[in-house]
Formats: sequence, structure tokens, C-alpha cells
Amino acid sequence: MNQGLVLCAALRAETGALRAGLPPTVADRVVRTGVGRSRAERAATSAPVRHASALLVAGVAGGLRADLRPGDVVVADEVRTVDGGSVHCTSARLLAARLRAAGLTVRVGPVVSCEHVVGAAERATLAATRALAVDMESAWLVGSATIPTAVVRVVADTAGEPLLRPATLGRVRSALRRLTDLGPALADWGNAVGDRTVLLAGPRSFCAGVERAIDVVDLALQQRGAPVYVRKQIVHNVHVVAELEQRGAVFVDELDEVPAEATVVFSAHGVAPAVRDDARSRGLAVVDATCPLVSKVHAEVRRFSDRGDTVLFIGHAGHEETVGTMGERPGRTVLVEDVDDARSVQVADPDQVSYLVQTTLAADEVGSIVDVLRQRFPTIQGAASEDICYATTNRQRALRAVAEDSAVVLVVGSLNSSNSLRLVEAAQRMGTPAHLIDDVDGVNLRWLGVADTVGITAGASAPTTLIDEVIDALAGLGRVHVEERQVTIENVHFTLPKEVRNP
Ligand code: SF4
Repeated sequence: MNQGLVLCAALRAETGALRAGLPPTVADRVVRTGVGRSRAERAATSAPVRHASALLVAGVAGGLRADLRPGDVVVADEVRTVDGGSVHCTSARLLAARLRAAGLTVRVGPVVSCEHVVGAAERATLAATRALAVDMESAWLVGSATIPTAVVRVVADTAGEPLLRPATLGRVRSALRRLTDLGPALADWGNAVGDRTVLLAGPRSFCAGVERAIDVVDLALQQRGAPVYVRKQIVHNVHVVAELEQRGAVFVDELDEVPAEATVVFSAHGVAPAVRDDARSRGLAVVDATCPLVSKVHAEVRRFSDRGDTVLFIGHAGHEETVGTMGERPGRTVLVEDVDDARSVQVADPDQVSYLVQTTLAADEVGSIVDVLRQRFPTIQGAASEDICYATTNRQRALRAVAEDSAVVLVVGSLNSSNSLRLVEAAQRMGTPAHLIDDVDGVNLRWLGVADTVGITAGASAPTTLIDEVIDALAGLGRVHVEERQVTIENVHFTLPKEVRNP
């Protein structure tokens, strides 16, 4: 626990509820401020708050929005006054994620502080400013703070369920019990407060194949209008998919979900020839966003198998790239997932064997599989150049450059992103704790408690803006010094498919 954390609440009932949920070492750092602006301003200049190195304001509040219910928790990303004052609490999403993990219903948004009890009409006015909750102290407690701050409020009453009705006492009691429930998460926020260094892996985030695939959908939408159908996720990232969906892309699993003669985009991971045949027979207008480096492996499968080889494909079962690549010659390709498979795989003729590799695997793991295959099949041939693509290789090198000096590594990427998962595994093999996160909401405050150096990277399908959000959130816990470890500069670009280049 950071010894400088101070928690403030207005009422005796609130401080009591808070203390009941906090570890004893933290419970004695709860300060009662009293209700209203003047008492909050006085508390802000009191010795405990002046000497604090982090300040957390908690208590009950009035809900402003119709979709909030008594007992919901509001974490402020901004604290406002009605006259336009505003303070941002940039670690809000980290704290909210920790509270959600505790099973609480949590919203993140602005909290506004007023100098008086707010009635129904004024609540509506404040709700129109997108504020979630109203209190009477927070803005004056955190307003001039230069230390990490957080504001958490439990909704006690709403516009539809206001104070001064018979049920009020019960709702306030419920809100106070909920305040007690917040304790472990608030303590974790306090533990995570501190200055830290962020080691940023370079290269990170989008590769040329992903940029091209996103551009393909973008241009197809511009040129042909919505909807544009996309078979499978265009790239393996929930944020990219959600953004394209908003603009009119419709993601489908199989072609029978696409109306006749519509436009369909094949994803960056490639498809088997049977899928192309199906699209042709259904009269679909195909735009192929398969990454050229994946297409290269498809061509190698055809070349090796057509000269009579059994092709051992080193990859992961069920991954779209594996399914598409092996679908080139289904009768002549055999999947090898790991060293055990390499030891046991059977082929028709041990002198006619070749191997190919999924583009997004970890080079060190593939190396040990290939070693076993070479021992068993001394004449085995691989591709003329490495199949593991430049982007995968570069991101793994950059990851190692940051993981060696990091207490924890955060890899931004989605769960179905092969190259992102390989980055996590590569860090873990080095002995550094590493976690895959879709975005800042996936960060667990407990990972940060003792981590004064955090390595951050992103898989090839994850937008770089997601990294910026993580760094912003960390900056809400203390000063952040960002150091980039750039192992190489990438300048790879792929030309667009002709269907969108010359519409
Ligand atoms: Fe292409 Fe490599 Fe990017 Fe996959 S990771 S889309 S193979 S450049």
C-alpha cells in the first residue's frame, strides 16, 4: 500500500462503510470531510490531504441518467463543477475494471459537484451534459490536486427514485453496504499508485497486411456502399471489427449468409480454393484481402504437393490461416502443432516430405519442431525464405527487448489473434509475467502493484490508439516515463487488390 494514499468521504456513515471494507492498514487513512463545498475546500487544505501522495474520494451520490439504478457504481473520468471547472481522472477505467471484476455494476463518466441538493428538473439539465452522477464535494477535493486522484460514487437515488420518499432509508443503507464492497478494489488502486517507466516495443501494432485488409473493406464501402459482407473477421481484433461494422461492414462466418450477387471480402487470413469456388458459383463479387505473405504460403503448398510431397504444415488447428492454407491440397497436407506431433507424424514416403509454417508463429517454437522433423526426415525441404512473416518476427524481437527489463508485459490484442498470443508466450518464456488485453479495460490493477517498469506492445492486428489509452490510464496512477525500444524500422507496403484499386 502506498502510505501516502488518503480516502475522503463526507459523512460519518460513509467513512464507517468505507473503513469496514478496507484492509486495516488502509482503513485508518479514511478522512471525514463533512458535506458541501466549504467543508470540502477546507478538507482539501487539511494536513492529511496536503501530505497525501494519492487521493480517492468515495461516497454515495445522486444518479442523473435514466439507465442508472440505486446501487450502481460510478467511477469519474472527469469531475466537473456547474460553472465549468473540470478535472480528469485518467485512471478511471483501470479502477472500473477492477470493480467490475468484483461483480459490481459500474459506469465510467463525468461526475458533477453542486453546492446544493439537486432536484428533478436540475438533474435533467445535468444529465443532458452527459454527467452520470451528482455529489456535493468531489470537485473541491480533487480540483487543485497535483497527485493521482480517483472519485467513486455509489448511486443512492435517481431521478425516478428520489430522496424524501419512504424507500429512501433502505436505498441509502444498500448504497452504504455497496460502499463497503468497494474496499478491496480501492485498496488495489492505492497499491498501484506510483511513478513508473513504460517500455514501448517497436515495432508494434498494425502490420502491412492488416493495414491493407482494413483499407480493402474501407474502400469497398466507399466505392460500393453498405453493406459489404466480410467472410470471417477481417483481422483478429474486436475493435477493428466493431468500427467497420459501424460503417456498414457485415461479418459472416460462411458464404451462405451472403445474399446473391453481393460483395464479399475475404479476410487477411486467406481462404481455401473451395471457398473461392463457392463464391463464384453463388455469383458473389469477391474482393480478396488475403495478405500477400499468406498467399505466398498457399502457393508453396501447391508447388510442394503437386510434385508429390506430403506437406507438413506447422500451425494451429482451427486457425483460419491453417484451414485456408491446408485447404489448398487437403489430401496432401498434415498438420503439425508441436514437437510431439513432429515426433509421431506419419507420411507416405519419408523421402518426399516438405514443411511450411503459419505466418504468425513464434520463431523459437517453430525451430524446435523443425529440428525434430529434420532428424526424422533428413531430406525434408522448407520454403525458400522463412514463412514466419517480417511483422511477426519484428514484433517478437521488440517484445524480447522490453520484456527483459519489465516487471510485467501488457500485450494489446484480441484472444483469437495468433501473433498476439505468441507475444504473451514469448515474454512468459523469458520469465516475465505477461497478459493479453483487448484494451485498457483488460488491465488488472493487481498486476501493477509492484510493477515500476511496464512493457507494452500490441499484436499486428491491434490499433495503436489502444496503447495510447493504456499509457494515459497509467499516467493517472503517477508520472509515466515512456521509453521506446525500437529494434527495426518497418517500411513494408502491399499494393491493394485490383477490385478496389480500379473500381
Ligand atoms: Fe501478413 Fe504478417 Fe500481417 Fe499476417 S502478420 S497479415 S502475414 S504481414
